[in-house]
Amino acid sequence: MRILPYLLIILATAAQAQTEAPDRGPVIDMHIHAYGAGGEGPPSYICTPFPAWKPLDPGKGGAGLPGYLGSMFGNPDCPKRIFSATTDDELRTKTLAELRKNDAYAVAGGSAKYVDRWLADEPKRLIPAIGAGSFAKLPSVEDLRKRHAEGRLKSLSELSFQYNGIGPADPRFEPYWALAEELDIPVGIHMGPGAPGTTYFATPEYRVALSDPMQLEPVLVKHPRLRIFVVHAGYPMKERMLALMAAYPNVYAEFGFLTVGYRDSDVWPYIQAFIDAGFEDRILYGTDQMVWPEAISFSIDRVRHAPGLTAAQKRKFLYENAARFLRIDPANTGILKP
Ligand SMILES: [Zn+2]
Repeated sequence: MRILPYLLIILATAAQAQTEAPDRGPVIDMHIHAYGAGGEGPPSYICTPFPAWKPLDPGKGGAGLPGYLGSMFGNPDCPKRIFSATTDDELRTKTLAELRKNDAYAVAGGSAKYVDRWLADEPKRLIPAIGAGSFAKLPSVEDLRKRHAEGRLKSLSELSFQYNGIGPADPRFEPYWALAEELDIPVGIHMGPGAPGTTYFATPEYRVALSDPMQLEPVLVKHPRLRIFVVHAGYPMKERMLALMAAYPNVYAEFGFLTVGYRDSDVWPYIQAFIDAGFEDRILYGTDQMVWPEAISFSIDRVRHAPGLTAAQKRKFLYENAARFLRIDPANTGILKP
């Protein structure tokens, strides 16, 4: 046996491992939910990732166990899965622990009651937002203005009105777009998938047609100072999303649940399409952490080891783009210095 060739192979492998060392550094998660453990219904699993979006046989039932939702979230037969937190306290403390463990900061959206409770535990790492899915649950413009003056409103997010069949051009949104422009705060709007079958089983007004990013165009025309990020990046309508971003350079794409629950063969090419099209400075990382706190570590680790993304692209995706977009540098990296 000749030692030298083996030694060279070992040295070469070590050198390669060094250049491909996993990403480190702080993270800004643009999209977590501050709400209660019942926010997504009864206790459930998510698959990390979901191996397939299963076919539904309407003859075999939908919601509940057994049934379609049961097979996806009740007791899914996927290789890796995460169980939900079962109490509000567990959800909050575990989610905050996940952020600290990963040196992550997060835009936390929800109702004022929950956001304030979470902020009390973690004023440093949380960027408080207000989010809702209906006008009944969205605070009034006056209340939002007051929260902003108190320093407790840094973003309007997540606006998940798609689940109630309401698109961004709905005239009832008008005062909120005007307010976000006036206060100069970013807006995150859900445009993309929900749970499979959600229209049948959970949110009857959900319309996939409202995932189309082009729905935002009239709003962007009328409110040129809006700073907007599209949650779930219009998945899977990437051409429409790219077209919108090309025409409106103030629009960012946030990839939400894709890095948690979508297959490697799906999520990385989707993100890569935005990089290839010249938008690597406008891709934002988010987990869409709902009631499955360990999704945060899973997702961050997955991005750190993502195939295809360069070290610089991972830094932009995980922190730098969000820092520029939000105009903050909570980890003091110096990125915003001129
Ligand atoms: Zn969300």
